[in-house]
Order: sequence, then structure tokens, then C-alpha cells
Amino acid sequence: MTAPLEGKAALVTGGSRGIGAAVALRLAEDGADVALTFQSGERAAQEIVDRIKGLGRRALAVRADSAEATAVRAAVDEAAAEFGRLDILVNNAGAGVLGPIADISSADVDRVLAVNVRAPYLAAQAAVAHLREGGRIISIGSCMAERVAFPGGSLYAMSKSAMTGMTKALARELGPNGITVNLVHPGPIDTDMNPADGESAEMQAGLTALGRYGRPSEVAATVAHLAGPAGDYISGASIAVDGGFAV
Ligand code: NDP
Repeated sequence: MTAPLEGKAALVTGGSRGIGAAVALRLAEDGADVALTFQSGERAAQEIVDRIKGLGRRALAVRADSAEATAVRAAVDEAAAEFGRLDILVNNAGAGVLGPIADISSADVDRVLAVNVRAPYLAAQAAVAHLREGGRIISIGSCMAERVAFPGGSLYAMSKSAMTGMTKALARELGPNGITVNLVHPGPIDTDMNPADGESAEMQAGLTALGRYGRPSEVAATVAHLAGPAGDYISGASIAVDGGFAV
């Protein structure tokens, strides 16, 4: 049986750890060549690249801080040049600054908006030059864009909510070209950013219907669904993978 993403090429931003690494590996398992960006953790990025190559796929790690506009655009073009095509963009890299509004600095606001909003927009813009019929833009939002069940989320929730507007508008704009644009909202997922044994983990798990943290692979499964042929008729959608956090 042919793998669903055989012959496709993907770029996953922030693909060296956590949800992004799980997405990169899953897309490779499904047959895609995969490029990933990272900010500073070169060794972790190389490990994921080696694992993707071990699956028989081509892989590339690009150091690109999503806070830098030129780096984001260059990473998209580099991935497309390396693989000779680009079919799937996954906007995953994110900055998670939480806290009472009085404690949030102007620099925090600039950085979170640069990483969580400007970078996905610019990456999508750069990707559009390469994507063709069947292309995919999938962004990782947050359950906190839908329901903010505890205080301290004003900046993060604001940034992730912006992805809803981008996704819907781009879905309309790119639909005629056969490109789908979707958003995945994870709930509490066990990663370095939000460890399942962290300070507020019990509270977060308790806010889900299932009463537990999710695994990065559980988010990756939905991204893979959207990226593959099963996602052909899904566009402009926001899909929660949050254990019922936003219910
Ligand atoms: P992690 O902190 O576990 O992993 C972050 C990954 O992104 C690493 O590969 C890291 O690379 C890279 N990265 C971080 N900042 C940048 C940057 N500025 N530019 C490029 N790469 C960067 O995060 P998660 O896997 O938990 O989160 C992934 C996404 O999911 C984020 O958008 C987050 O907001 C979202 N999310 C996560 C939830 C959770 O509970 N974990 C819940 C809801 C949404 P390096 O090691 O080099 O820094």
C-alpha cells in the first residue's frame, strides 16, 4: 500500500522537540520528506533529522528563530529548494508567556506576537509561492484560543486567537487553488513547555473531560489526517485535540 504522503515534502516549524517533533516524525512515517526549524537546540534537531532519515525519508534541520521575519521566510524557501517542492507547511513553533497582565512587558508582547502571529503569517506567505493543488497549511493554535479556563492567559490567548482569522481568510483565498488551510487546537500536552508533572498540571488535567494530559503523538495524528488525502475536503476548520478542555 502506498504511504498517504509518499512524494510530498513538508516543513514543520519548531520541529525538534515536543508536538513539532511528533508531527515531523509522523509526517515522515506517512511518507513525506520533512524539514524542520529550531531556535537553539541543534542536537535535538539533528536527532529528529536522523530518525526521519532512518525511516527512509529526506530530512533537513534549519536554525530559524520564528521571531525573525527574514529567517522564517528563508526557512520556507530553503525547504522547498532542498526537496524541489513544498506541499505541507505546519506552523508549530510557539511562545508561551503566561501571567497577570500587570506582569507582561512590552517586550513580551512583541515577542509573543512575532512568534505566534507574524511568523505563521509570513511562513504561509512564503509557502504560497511553492504550494500547488493539494497543498496544506496547518497551524497549531491552543485550546486557550477557545476557552480560557484560568487567569493569566491574556497575551497567549490573544496571539493564538489570531490564528482563527488567518485560517478562515486564507482558506477562502487559497481554496480555488486546491490548497486547504486548517488550525489544530491542542489541550494540555506533555512537552517541555507544559510538562505533565509541572506546577499547574493537576489543575490543567482536571479542566479536561478526560482528566489527563495528551501526548504529542495524539496531536500529530490529527495533523497527519489533515495533511493526507483524508483531509481533502477539510478547510478553514479549527479542530480541538484537547481531551475536552474547551467543552
Ligand atoms: P516545546 O517547548 O516542547 O517545543 C518547542 C519547539 O519549538 C522546539 O523544537 C523549539 O526549538 C522550537 N521553538 C521554540 N521557539 C522557537 C522559535 N522562536 N523559533 C523557532 N523554533 C522555536 O513546545 P510544545 O511542543 O509544547 O508546543 C508546540 C506548539 O503547541 C506551540 O505553538 C504551543 O503554543 C502549542 N501548544 C502547546 C500546548 C502544550 O500543552 N504543550 C497546548 C496548546 C498549544 P528549540 O529547542 O531550538 O528552542
